Amino acid sequence: MSLQAITARIAAAEAAAGRKAGSVQLIAVSKVQPDARVREVLAAGHRLFGENYVQEAAAKWPGFRAEFGPVAVHMIGPLQTNKAKLAVELFDAIHTVDRASLAEKLAKLAQGRGASPEVFVQVNTGLEPQKAGVLPDDVDAFVASCRAMDLPLAGLMCIPPEGEESTPHFKMLAGMAARNGLVGLSMGMSGDFEAAIAEGATHVRVGSAIFGARNYG
Ligand SMILES: *Cc1c(COP(=O)(O)O)cnc(C)c1O
Repeated sequence: MSLQAITARIAAAEAAAGRKAGSVQLIAVSKVQPDARVREVLAAGHRLFGENYVQEAAAKWPGFRAEFGPVAVHMIGPLQTNKAKLAVELFDAIHTVDRASLAEKLAKLAQGRGASPEVFVQVNTGLEPQKAGVLPDDVDAFVASCRAMDLPLAGLMCIPPEGEESTPHFKMLAGMAARNGLVGLSMGMSGDFEAAIAEGATHVRVGSAIFGARNYG
């Protein structure tokens, strides 16, 4: 697969769903990928990436931004509160806001800086004990509390359980976003981004289908 092939599949999925061309943003998930592969995608003109680890992103993106100019980088991995300060300086959006302590920390940093990355609330749609995310029953209250803190709330994010059909989770997330007046839907990965687009995804997070398999060695 390549960036071009994925971009073409996204365009086809938009059309099949009767959605406007360009209504879905492709987040190229570059975590753990060798710099050479990331550089190829940058050289092809792509300017939106996703990272899971603050430390890794801090080592990688200042250099790439100096070399290629402005690049949007979104945080899509779990964020420890003690890394929030570095995160708001690095990232244009944080997709994994899932608890009051983190929301409060981000709000405080936003007040101090007069700016904040966009925020997505991560929802644990599969009720998985080991997975991060606000539980579905708690989403409305959590969204309201983020709004009360003046966080720039872009939408909701989910990672469906492995080995389950993704579509019911995407539908659930879309329903929760709609009833909360939220437009952004961060959902869909290499294996299911077309299904996510059919259910209204605005941001798909695609890693291995663009860059190849990750080698965690
Ligand atoms: C790694 C990761 C992705 C990308 O996964 P692929 O299957 O390689 O496309 C997307 N979203 C999150 C939250 C991830 O951690």
